[in-house]
Amino acid sequence: MAYGIHASDRTAFKRCRREWDLSSRNRRNLEPIPGPGPIDRAQALRDALAVYYFPGMWEWDRSIVQPLVHQALDRSVRRQAEAATDNQAVQETLARGHALLDAYAAWAPTVDRFTPLRVDTDFEVGIPHPARPGAHLVLPAGDEIRYCDRVDLLAIDSDDAYWVVQHRLVTDSWADRDVLELDERTIAWSWAWPQFYLGMGITGTVYNEIRADAGELGVQAPPPAGHQQVHHRRMYARSGTVSGERLHAEGTDVFRRTQIRRGEAELAAAGADLAAEVTTATSADLKIFPSPAPGVCARCSYRSPCVMMSQGDDATAELSTSYRERPPEPVQEGRLGGVTWSMNRGAAPPRWPSSS
Ligand code: SF4
Repeated sequence: MAYGIHASDRTAFKRCRREWDLSSRNRRNLEPIPGPGPIDRAQALRDALAVYYFPGMWEWDRSIVQPLVHQALDRSVRRQAEAATDNQAVQETLARGHALLDAYAAWAPTVDRFTPLRVDTDFEVGIPHPARPGAHLVLPAGDEIRYCDRVDLLAIDSDDAYWVVQHRLVTDSWADRDVLELDERTIAWSWAWPQFYLGMGITGTVYNEIRADAGELGVQAPPPAGHQQVHHRRMYARSGTVSGERLHAEGTDVFRRTQIRRGEAELAAAGADLAAEVTTATSADLKIFPSPAPGVCARCSYRSPCVMMSQGDDATAELSTSYRERPPEPVQEGRLGGVTWSMNRGAAPPRWPSSS
């Protein structure tokens, strides 16, 4: 049996071990009992863009695709709305989201110099043992440790180079260049993908930043009927050799597309870092301690039990009344990319659930 370490586990472990210990599926696996909360607009955007970039519909007239993109936003927001604060917030989120998607559809064809191959694709890979060539990291009991995450978009450009694309909803300012250079999650995508899809090397990462107010401030022109014509020759298991600047950014006041090439040494270092972190996180004598800091604790869902534990009190009652064991991840029938599906363009999309 495999022991899965998700990207969110990795982030939580390094942010605060106490939060990780309470939340991780590999540890106590607790989550706050759901109640009214904000709608995850970034998730709604990713769900809509998974349809926008759906490979089987990439060459369809955009006037046919765009209504489906809007429907995907509706489905995502309404699915979350059961736990959302109020109906007015849902309506406002939908109105802003639809305006944003129309502005995006007017801008994206000016920078989409690629062909999408996969959207929302889950992967899991073994982690090479740093001291034993050919072996993967395992637990003391022998279970293989696997790193898991979901790639927003895999695309190929006209040089047969493969890129992983991350969609980012921006509510503040654009990410600093160094933050993107060091973004470990997308670098890990690039490191892991050639192991998941044997030999398919990734040339680099693309950050698709979209300001949350793009619908109010963005271009309101109608979406064009199609995309720039990008002809890649065919699917290769290894990307073509391409040259060019390491980082290229372009955009407007409300949209920014940043492309960063990732070298072999950078990806190898990322794999070594992951192995070192995972070795620490799974060691038998691991110590758990809190890492309180304003920027860390402000977004933490475990503050009340943490305060009790830090004062030396027993948090068992609080954990049993305000938290529950996290249920298994639901398998959403027909979720795009939730299953391995054809890489061929023109493949029929999976059946989508109704938006009702
Ligand atoms: S409140 Fe802060 S210190 Fe406590 S578990 Fe959460 S992140 Fe860690």
